[in-house]
Amino acid sequence: MTSRYNITAEDLATHLVALGERPFRAKQVWEGLYEQRKPLEDLTNIGADLRTHLDAFLPHSLTELTRREGDNGTTVKWLWRTQDGAQIETVLMRYRDRATVCVSSQAGCAMACTFCATGQAGFERHLDVGEIVEQVLRAQHASPQRVSNVVFMGMGEPLANLDAVWGATQRLHQDMGMSARHITISTVGIVPGMRKLADLALPVTLAVSLHAPDDELRSELVPINKRYPIASVMEAAREYVARKGRRVTFEYACIERVNDQLQRAEALADLLRGFPGGAHVNLIPLNSTDGYGGTPAGAMRIQNFANALTDRGVNATVRRNRGTQIDAACGQLRSRNLG
Ligand code: SAH
Repeated sequence: MTSRYNITAEDLATHLVALGERPFRAKQVWEGLYEQRKPLEDLTNIGADLRTHLDAFLPHSLTELTRREGDNGTTVKWLWRTQDGAQIETVLMRYRDRATVCVSSQAGCAMACTFCATGQAGFERHLDVGEIVEQVLRAQHASPQRVSNVVFMGMGEPLANLDAVWGATQRLHQDMGMSARHITISTVGIVPGMRKLADLALPVTLAVSLHAPDDELRSELVPINKRYPIASVMEAAREYVARKGRRVTFEYACIERVNDQLQRAEALADLLRGFPGGAHVNLIPLNSTDGYGGTPAGAMRIQNFANALTDRGVNATVRRNRGTQIDAACGQLRSRNLG
């Protein structure tokens, strides 16, 4: 379906020339939308008639259902409705002089991670390039700070929808001028997808959702681990570093007395010590979800876990949760709305 941010530069040019516009018009519109990141209605260097035409010809993919603000307005979370009625979420995190957008790559998710609200709800469909890019641009339109970073940490498994995710990544990099290093693709550990990503041209940052150092526990939390066990995920991550020279981040949602014991920190250190380029562990307190009984690990337990890693030479940081009071964690807003 043709939409505002799904159309290619070539198709836009063809369309405008067919309307009798001069060839430079397409470039003006394209640069206005992407390089300058303006909403269509602010492209005042094209005539009002053409703007009106384009507004109808290139409809938005996303309609705002709800917008909530937290952390004194520095965290903004949208629930959008797609043209076919799917619901997806986007989060904007504003800092002093830049901003990060967390985007969804699918409506729902097939990976069924037990603690994740999106996983609990199941898979609906892949998003297309325009739906992914529009999340970034709509957030940019609401942000005084320039969006410098995009993380694929919203709903969905990006490596299960790599074609659209890659198309969107190219748009962010080539047309919006974002650095590839500032684009993070977070994966549950789809090994063939990680290999494919290593083959693609841009050195985007890879994040791997580990959550446990041993296959027994990881298979409980992240069922796809039965297909791609830890050793195979680590091998693909090492290959990624070798090909791209980028440090890999490992995410670890800390769940009280499930995966936060000191023995697990030691096992995790054993797994990651000496990882090429130096592994970085992001410890995130679990966000409680309705469909999962576990509770977030306490701050002291997380700090002890982090210390055990750093004492053993593995770099770790505790991620401050943003937006918890607005249900900004993966899939939560949608599940509230649909629930
Ligand atoms: N499918 C991708 C993106 C998922 S969301 C992936 O698995 O990496 C980004 C991160 O948030 C993942 O590490 C995911 O496991 C984590 N996450 C999901 N639900 C969570 C919750 N309730 N609490 C804490 N982290 C969660």
